[in-house]
This record gives sequence, C-alpha cells and structure tokens, in this order.
Amino acid sequence: MNRARLLVFNPVLHVLDYRVPQGMAVEPGSIVLAPLGPRQVLGIVWEPDRLPGDEVPEGKLRPLLEVLPVPPLSAPLRRLIEWCADYYVAPMNAVARMALGSMAALRGGGTTTEYRLSGLEPKRLTPQRAAAMDALHGEQASIRELAEIASVSDGVLRGMVSAGLLEPVTVDLDRPYPRARPDFAVPDLSEDQRAAADTFVAAVEAHEFAPFLLDGVTGSGKTECYFEAMAQALRLGRQVLVLLPEIALTQNFLRRFEARFGTPPVLWHSSLKASERRRAWRAIVSGEAQVVVGARSALFLPYARLGLIVVDEAHEVSFKQDDGVRYNARDVAVIRARFEKVPVILASATPALESLQLAEAGVYRKIDLAARYGGAELPAVSILDLTKEPPERGRWLSPRLVAELKDRLARGEQSLLFLNRRGYAPLTLCRHCGYRFQCPNCSAWLVEHRLSRRLACHHCGHETPVPDECPECHTGDCLVACGPGVERIADEVAEILPEARLAVVTSDTLNSPEKIGAFVAAAEQKLIDVIIGTQLVTKGYHFPELTLVGVVDADLGLEGGDLRAAERTYQQVAQVAGRAGRGEKPGEVLIQTRHPEAAVIAALAAGDRDAFYAAEAEARRDAGAPPFGRWAAIIVSSEDEAEARDAARMIGGARPDLPDVMILGPAPAPLSLLRGRYRYRLLVNARRSAKLQDVIREWLGALQFPQGVRVGVDIDPYSFV
Ligand code: ADP
Ligand code: ZN
Repeated sequence: MNRARLLVFNPVLHVLDYRVPQGMAVEPGSIVLAPLGPRQVLGIVWEPDRLPGDEVPEGKLRPLLEVLPVPPLSAPLRRLIEWCADYYVAPMNAVARMALGSMAALRGGGTTTEYRLSGLEPKRLTPQRAAAMDALHGEQASIRELAEIASVSDGVLRGMVSAGLLEPVTVDLDRPYPRARPDFAVPDLSEDQRAAADTFVAAVEAHEFAPFLLDGVTGSGKTECYFEAMAQALRLGRQVLVLLPEIALTQNFLRRFEARFGTPPVLWHSSLKASERRRAWRAIVSGEAQVVVGARSALFLPYARLGLIVVDEAHEVSFKQDDGVRYNARDVAVIRARFEKVPVILASATPALESLQLAEAGVYRKIDLAARYGGAELPAVSILDLTKEPPERGRWLSPRLVAELKDRLARGEQSLLFLNRRGYAPLTLCRHCGYRFQCPNCSAWLVEHRLSRRLACHHCGHETPVPDECPECHTGDCLVACGPGVERIADEVAEILPEARLAVVTSDTLNSPEKIGAFVAAAEQKLIDVIIGTQLVTKGYHFPELTLVGVVDADLGLEGGDLRAAERTYQQVAQVAGRAGRGEKPGEVLIQTRHPEAAVIAALAAGDRDAFYAAEAEARRDAGAPPFGRWAAIIVSSEDEAEARDAARMIGGARPDLPDVMILGPAPAPLSLLRGRYRYRLLVNARRSAKLQDVIREWLGALQFPQGVRVGVDIDPYSFV
C-alpha cells in the first residue's frame, strides 16, 4: 500500500489521502498521524471503497508521519462504525472517536506521575491549603484532577508539592489487572435458571451471533444466569462487555461480581481519571481486560477478543444518547454482536416493546424466568385513588399510605417512597406578584433544592442561591414552593414519623461510588427505615427487609406526552414495585394516582403485563410509532433566535414530498431554549418501507446553513423536548 485513505479527526475535513512512506507498514484500521497544513491530525486508515472522497493526484500526496503503536481497529469494529454513521445519520469520525482512547493511551504505555497527601501535617496552613488537605484525603490523581476535586488552582497544589504536603507517585500505565476467576464462587442455580444459563453457555461456546432477550421478573436471578455465560467466556479466554444504564448501578454490580469472580471487573465510564482511562483502554485493546463494565460509551471500544455482550436493564431510557451521535446503545450492542459474531443478552424485567416485538418475530430468542428466586412472591399491588382518598392539605401522602408507613416502622421493616423528581419543589413563585423563577438559559423553571439552599435548572445546571426577597417586586419572605420533590416528601415523612431514619436517594445525594456504597450498607444493616428516592432506587437493589413501596405520583410520567410515556411509567412502577418483598416477608405496593382508569395504571394493579403491552402495541400501531413505523427528529438550534427560525423554515421549505413519509413542523421545540440555544424541531414519521435515513441525508445534504446553526438528526428519538 503506497497510498492510504484516512478517516481524520477534524471537524471540517473527514476524509484525506496520503502517501505511505517507504518502510512504514499500514493496513485498514491502523491509527496514524498525518500532516494537515502546519499541524498534525489523527486518522484511521480505511478501505477507500468504503470511504468515498476526492482522489488526490499522486504528486500532491503528503506522507504519513507515524503509525501509532496500537493494534489496528478490527474489521468488525470498522463495520460497526460505518453502520452507526449510516443509521444515525452522523459523521463517521464522530462515531469513530468513541472507539479511541486519549492521545496518551494511543502513544503507548510507560509511566505517569500522580500525587497524594504525604501525611505531613504542618502546624500552620493557609485556608486554601487546609481546605485542599481536607478534600484530598484518600485521593491520588494528576495535579489537574486533584485541583478539580479540591476546587483550588493548580498553583496551590504545586505549592503544596514544593512544601512536601503532596508527594509524587509513579504509576505504571500498563500494570495488569487482577484475574477474574470463573470458578471462584459458582452458585447453585434453580432449574429454570440452570436452563437459561446452559443456553447462554452453549451460545458462548458456539461463538456465533445469537441475540437473546432474558425476560425475568424482578428478583428472578437474571444476573446469576448471565454470570454463568460470562464465566464460560472467561474460561475460553474471551472478553465480556457488560453495559449498565447508569453508574449508580455499578456499585451494586461490582459487589456481586466480586463475590462471584473473586476480583472486580474493569470499569469504563466518564468519571474515570485520566490514568485509569488509559490503563483500561490499553487493557481492552490488548485483550487483557477480561470483563469490562461500563456505560454506553464502552460499546465502541476496540476489544481484542470479544466473546459476549450483556445489556442489563436493557429497557432503560438512558441507553439512548441525546446529543452528539444520537444512538441507542441497546440496539448498537446487538449490531456489534452481529459484526463480532458473538452472543448478546438483553436482560430486563420490563423489556421495551421494541425488544418484545423482535422476540415475537423470532429475531431474538426469548428466555423467560417467570418466578422469583428462593420462593419469594411478587408483591401485592393496589391503587390509591387520590380523588377519593386525598392527602391532608399541603401534604402529598394519602392517609392510607401514611398508615402503612407507620405500620412498617412499628414492625421494624423498611419502606420506599418513589417520586421521580429531584429537589424540594419543581416551581417557586412569589406569593405577592406571581413572579416565577425561570432559568436564564433554558425555557424551564428552576427547581428548589433545600438541602443545598439553591434554585437549580435540571437542564443546563444553572444554579443560584434562594433569594430573601422577590427579584421582581422586592417583597421579602414571600416565596412559595409549588409541588413536591423528594426532599419535600422527606420533610413530610419526618413530620409524620419523627423517629424514623430517612435516606433521600437522588443523583444529588448519591453522587459518588462511596456514597452509594454507604447507602447500600446502611440499608442492608437496617439503619434506614424509609428510603425516599427518584428513579435511581427503582432498580438493581436487593433489600430483603423492604416490604412496602409507595409510588407518590404515578401520573407524573404520563404528563410528558411523548410516545413512550405510558411504557416508561409502566416500567418505572413495575421496577420500583420489584424492590418490595424480595426476602422472606411479602411485599406490598401502593400506587397513588388521580387516574386509576388509565390503561397503564389498571394493568399495574392487575399485574397484567401482557394486557398492558397488547394495549400499548395497539396504540403504537395506530400512531405509526415504533416498532410499527418510524420517527425521526430534526433539531435546529442557534444562539440567535431568528437564525434558528430561518434555518428551520429553510429545512421545512425544502421538505421532500413522498407517499410514505409525513413531515411535521418546523415548530419551536417544547424546550425552545436550552443551554442558551434557541431550538426548532421537525418530526418525520415514516412507514417502515421508507428509506428514512436516505431521505433525510438527501434533504439536509442539499442545504447550506450559517455557521452558528446546528442541525441534529435523531433517529427514533426518545426525548421529544
Ligand atoms: P434480578 O436481576 O432478576 O432482579 P437478581 O439476580 O438480582 O435478580 O437476584 C435476586 C437475588 O436473589 C439476589 O440477591 C441474588 O443473589 C439471589 N439469587 C438469585 N439466584 C440465586 C441462586 N441461584 N443462588 C443464590 N442466590 C441467588
Ligand atoms: Zn437551564
């Protein structure tokens, strides 16, 4: 090969040709450095026939600079990157980006220097240094990372290094991970579990594409079953990827993994520090990382010997990425398994309708676990009609739920109250003039957080202290909180049950692995009587003493009005209900609602999952919604409102006229201002017969937009805001 076509990591140029200098060996997938103008650019050598670009004449080719010392990206991974770019209408280099580690990881192993407290305790310290000393207990990281942890400047920390307060530690980037042991603690499986596990094990041995939907009720031991498949992959020297929907679940998973395999797995998520990230990436590429547990971004990594993919809680909405490359990790996991020729297990107690449909069509093989492990019964579910049994004025918990809470406390059992709303109150207004606190960057109300005494935007992170007076009419002490968040429910419980020990569980309170670990330990040791939490507590946890679950507002999720609202409500309530009665004592679930007649609520009460899915399928079929028809969103945004509107109108004006495609909009998006950008939206609804992606590519490809305009395509959107 004396010329090479590169997929380059440049926002404007995506494809460039180069000359391969004598003595340099490249092949498709090689990761290289190339000159671009006066600078260098990173690129991946690609098959020219799969990467169209302008042929550069021989004489004008510039030579490649260097092949980086890592193995080339494999053909299956390159096919996955192509598939994603094509399917999600995304730039190929943006997809490929997700496969690569940092420049340092690509550069090779070696060592790096991290710092930690030396143990020296001087008598006098500047306040900044004292604060840093407090914050850095138990931490070891680069100066930059430590500065972030301690909220001080790099300079302060460098000063502390000179003063001997921080000491350098040399870290070997490629130090090996401890080996997982497939036979460390093999469980005794029930008959059902054994059958499921055997099927998975056989699929791992066959090393062929085989998609499974593991559909098991909460507490049936899905994890135990797929652990057996993982064990077999390990015995065969293959790598396993486990995708979890959110880092909050990792802690729990880690403990179980360690109990089963004798050592923790390799983690991959966005809050890894740089040296851990490098180490993990390099172990993944070399094949040394045996089991990688991660958020959706772990999906694109260049595994050397992949043997199995598991997607746990596969129905979770957070597998869908909503910006950048808008992909659904659950679906891409199946595609990757297909290219890699390995089995993939989607595990859930409440599968997405799309997944059930694919199982019904015979595309996925469905494996059922119909009963809880160890004879535990599924909880009894009943409806609490708030129109008939309303809470007292200014309260949110109905008397019957309050009575049940008191009863559990008296019996020494645990309760869980679920409300999917962080903070104290979703809206704050002035009693005097009606002023409402709104985010300056988003069309959204600010949410009061009493624990941190702040008003916060849940979309952009904007925060401001709660003022003493109304910013509009300057009346003092006149702000009222409207509606409940978990913090407000916690206050109510504290009033009703003053002696109860409470835990508020949200991403605000449990924002580190340590805090999650501490919460789980406290709950297990019965140091908590009532847990009040958001969707963070709906899944994964196994607290045997938890016997009552109260759903504070089952109607909340139905308000959003997007196409999966009913399904999501069903899943959330069924999952949180699944936390009750997992031990020996039976569980009970009370669902507060104003709409007991709604199909989803009735199905939950009757425990009739099939009826719910049948009704939901009917509704989606009528609406031409997935999986029967297809939706795509085109989101146009700009910091300048007129510019966004004009661009949206231009797109609308160029709309194709096709019999199997319907186009709605442009209209201002429900969140018409987000992070300082004005947003317009078009929705495309297509029959399955339509070539949706081609239509959108041709339509948008013919248009030119001003610099400040961003046009994003969301194939099969989950968020309709
Ligand atoms: P799911 O993921 O289906 O909700 P889990 O895998 O969390 O269920 O299992 C529920 C509980 O039962 C866990 O504490 C698990 O350790 C336990 N369990 C399940 N199967 C077995 C088994 N075969 N032997 C011992 N414990 C089991
Ligand atoms: Zn905001």
